[in-house]
Amino acid sequence: MVILAVLAALVVGAGASLAAEIIMARRKWGFPLCPYCQEPYSPVRWSAVLSFLSGRRTCDRCGQPLRWQRLAGELLLAALWGVLVARYGLSWRVALAMLAGVPLAMVLVTDLETRLIPNRIMFPAIGAMAVLGILVGPAVPGVASWTWWQSLAGGAVGLGVFWVLVVLGTLVWGEGALGYGDVKLATYIGLVVGFPLIIEALVLTFMGGFIGAVLLLLSRRGSLRSFFPYGPFLVLGAAITMLWGIEIALWYFG
Ligand SMILES: [Zn+2]
Repeated sequence: MVILAVLAALVVGAGASLAAEIIMARRKWGFPLCPYCQEPYSPVRWSAVLSFLSGRRTCDRCGQPLRWQRLAGELLLAALWGVLVARYGLSWRVALAMLAGVPLAMVLVTDLETRLIPNRIMFPAIGAMAVLGILVGPAVPGVASWTWWQSLAGGAVGLGVFWVLVVLGTLVWGEGALGYGDVKLATYIGLVVGFPLIIEALVLTFMGGFIGAVLLLLSRRGSLRSFFPYGPFLVLGAAITMLWGIEIALWYFG
């Protein structure tokens, strides 16, 4: 079952990462193309995992490498789906969590590649998750009873916290330190993990972001003023919270 889930995630993840590339390039929907020379990809390159495994990591025509960011998105989804099914088996809540992971994988690809979190991903994802959240509650398995308002409350906390951060960041560091894409992503993650788990997801995000910023400073490749992408840490914080959020909360407050 776990193997099936991982295989399915690799297929869905390949589709999601290709869709992310099309959205970033603002192309019409269609067959996947090399983002550099517009040559149609041969099917082995439709999946980043498959092309890395098969050693065909460059475009046949222009020789540009396949983007590793796509690989990150596909592996994230495979890990999420695999661990979800391994821990909780299959249920409607697990299916919802698997589905909720797809926009996260797409945003991981776009944010790593272009530091953008496209509205074309976030708005439909927020809309769908808000409706699903009211109907069935947040997308975190292992909780006996979710109630209808917890998803919305989580979204509100994510929105509020990151909105304040963007305003403060703009005051302190100027425009662009944090973007409104992060606000939308935090809102979506709040809807997905619900209240109170959104607080844990944000704490994990800031811990990851802090460690990342320190490493960046130590490597002297950036200063505190330079742009720091919070998106990937938001995605990781969300995935960890979806998988182990309850255990971490029980351990912390234990
Ligand atoms: Zn090419």
